[in-house]
Amino acid sequence: MKLTKIIFESERDEYKNVFVYIYPTLKSIYQSFLGKDLKGKVIRSYVNFKFVEIPVKEAMKNSREYGCWGFTGADDRRLHIWFKPDVNIFQLISMLSHEAGHIAKPHHRELEKEEAKAQQYQDVTNLAIGLAHNLLNNKYIHVQTLLKIGKK
Ligand SMILES: [Zn+2]
Repeated sequence: MKLTKIIFESERDEYKNVFVYIYPTLKSIYQSFLGKDLKGKVIRSYVNFKFVEIPVKEAMKNSREYGCWGFTGADDRRLHIWFKPDVNIFQLISMLSHEAGHIAKPHHRELEKEEAKAQQYQDVTNLAIGLAHNLLNNKYIHVQTLLKIGKK
């Protein structure tokens, strides 16, 4: 199994010397995360501010639909990712922003706090992507229109 390692260059200290491991298959990244035998395993996923356990089969199905998946190593310097060649770029950015959130300081010992921080990075990124998309497609409501509605 060949892993691709790239070093992420950044001006920000916490992002310096971060390694990105790119996995060739979805199965291989899940095996790296959970161990070789995936049978009967569950993924603890942080959804709506709480952890839920998802059977690995279901988690992999979701990842395949998203076209990407990733996790950040316990030492917070290794980003592990898998993506389909035809992944939607916004989906990929969204996933990467979550993982970048794990690399960013402060690092929390409490898993809930750590996930909440990463989720915040992802939420902000998703908001920015959504806004940019709407602006480029003229789907925004003009400020003046909003003011008129407000006067009614
Ligand atoms: Zn996370």
